[in-house]
Amino acid sequence: MQRFLILILLFMTLFEAQCQTIPSTEVAQQAFKQHSTYKEPAIQNRRFKHQDIVPLLEKLKQHPLFEVEVVGKSVEERDLYLVKAGTGEIKVMLWSQMHGDESTATMALFDLFNFLQQSDQLDPVRQQILQNLTLYIVPMLNPDGAEQFKRRNALQLDLNRDALRLQSPEAQLLKSLRDSLNPEFGFNLHDQSRHYTVGTTSKPATISFLAPAFDHAQTVNTVRDRAMRTIVGMNEALQQLIPGQVAKYSDEHEPRAFGDNIQKWGTSVILIESGGYQDDPEKQLIRQLNFASIVSALHLIAENGYTNYALEDYYRIPENERYLYDVVVRNVRYEDNNMNILLDFGIIRDEVPSPNDKGFYHRSSVQEIGDMSVFYGYEDIDGKGLTLVPGKVYSKPFKSIAALTPERTRELLLDGYTTVRVEKLSSANITPSDLPLNVTALNSKINHTLRLEGGANFVLKGADGKVKYAIVNGFVYNLQGDKPALFHGLVL
Ligand SMILES: [Zn+2]
Repeated sequence: MQRFLILILLFMTLFEAQCQTIPSTEVAQQAFKQHSTYKEPAIQNRRFKHQDIVPLLEKLKQHPLFEVEVVGKSVEERDLYLVKAGTGEIKVMLWSQMHGDESTATMALFDLFNFLQQSDQLDPVRQQILQNLTLYIVPMLNPDGAEQFKRRNALQLDLNRDALRLQSPEAQLLKSLRDSLNPEFGFNLHDQSRHYTVGTTSKPATISFLAPAFDHAQTVNTVRDRAMRTIVGMNEALQQLIPGQVAKYSDEHEPRAFGDNIQKWGTSVILIESGGYQDDPEKQLIRQLNFASIVSALHLIAENGYTNYALEDYYRIPENERYLYDVVVRNVRYEDNNMNILLDFGIIRDEVPSPNDKGFYHRSSVQEIGDMSVFYGYEDIDGKGLTLVPGKVYSKPFKSIAALTPERTRELLLDGYTTVRVEKLSSANITPSDLPLNVTALNSKINHTLRLEGGANFVLKGADGKVKYAIVNGFVYNLQGDKPALFHGLVL
């Protein structure tokens, strides 16, 4: 009888402990809310390099919670690090930035290292993660690519197409870690285009997930099943933070990719793709979401919480589509070949790294012309009643850019000019991000006519002939307002 009572007591205690666990949605909320207390201050923008993270990793070595080891070298002989934390039975491996220009998750991983060291109301979650899991983390798998903020490694190979041939030392390392550790779960951390949308909606796919298929039939075995259910839980948690902004990456099987193969080799792989978010050019909010998402996933795995989610909900997550442009201008009239037509046009802004710092500027182009009623713009302008006119080049040269005061710039734009000539342009040390207008040399030939792949330098005129909007290098200035921000010109 006494034994029976003890058993009942034990059961009640266990039951209580179960009830005390924080739901994963709540974990994600809290991790998101408190992110600033974990955010690694040494990394503030996306173009950090290997030399920026090495001191952080070396410092981590001093902390008893972590084992930090150099486990390989890149083609250009940069050290590849493995960080181990936790003592649990379930092994989870996370690797980021196998594409050198996809750094959002690397930032989130350094925030995770800080999170694991701290103490606050998330202690139960932290303890559960460290007790039930052993984490193996490779931040920045492709440091040579990161050095130039390029996708490929120094051999010009895409590491994510090198999972079978294994010609890159970075790919060899990932494969050998996978095989020697044989983790139950793997997190494959990437960035995707900010122009991806959640299905055909106007919402950017800020985070996309995938449990990669290990064959063309997209078979679901127990390995893939676990990844899919975990994703359903992560999606539920993220939906509270960014409703309608989570999608599923195309699950077509890619035989040469790591995610697909690691799934095949027996590790449940979760792909996280960081996409775009309105007004977050350095992806710091997406970093925060990434962090919250990873913490909620680790929590789910640590308590087997993913088993509570239904497989069919994985298929309900909308797929990535590509319906977003940076700017869409709609319903403008345009004169071409002696015809007056109604059209929309879409602008894409490509990033160009700044020469002197870790920032970037934009070089924009027109990427669609015509009926764009199914597409959306991060900036979406109805130009009904307006006529599109190519921007003009002001012929009288300016001595220096300093003469382009905000007042003068506004006058020029109102007169239809988007580009000015500047004397001695070649000797001037110009940072494009400081330019209110496009500037060009005295003898250059410039044509701002609307054309596909061409630059986006126009004015939009009202029926009264007055310029209402100017577009300089793909940035729209509303000239009906007071003082538009005018710093996106290019050197042409
Ligand atoms: Zn990638």
